Amino acid sequence: MSKTIFEKIIDREISADIILETENLLAFRDTHPEAPVHILVIPKKHFPRLAAVPTEESELLGQLLLAAQACAKKVGIESTGYRLVINNGADAGETVPHLHVHLLGGRKLECPPG
Ligand code: 5GP
Repeated sequence: MSKTIFEKIIDREISADIILETENLLAFRDTHPEAPVHILVIPKKHFPRLAAVPTEESELLGQLLLAAQACAKKVGIESTGYRLVINNGADAGETVPHLHVHLLGGRKLECPPG
């Protein structure tokens, strides 16, 4: 099966503005930001979407949220606030089939999201 864009970023075949990297995760800026801060946090292990993550990976899911928290702190939006979004499947508008958390902030976000 061919690699997704995000797997190519993990393998450094495509460049990205990386904010944070751990053994299991990578966080980098979205190339089409919907807010002044728009970062994608992804596991290095491939899962097409949240629905494909088995319960044994609960620790990895926890790491994803904590990495988003760490990114928010690193880019200075910890106190102003931020939103995390996971698009799962077609109706949610998922375009890259590799689990990712959007971290959005740096401005007042509409509520509820579209
Ligand atoms: P989705 O719609 O699947 O939840 O989000 C995929 C996100 O990946 C989109 O916000 C899109 O802008 C971003 N994206 C697509 N291709 C690239 C790329 O090559 N590099 C980076 N950094 N982001 C990308």
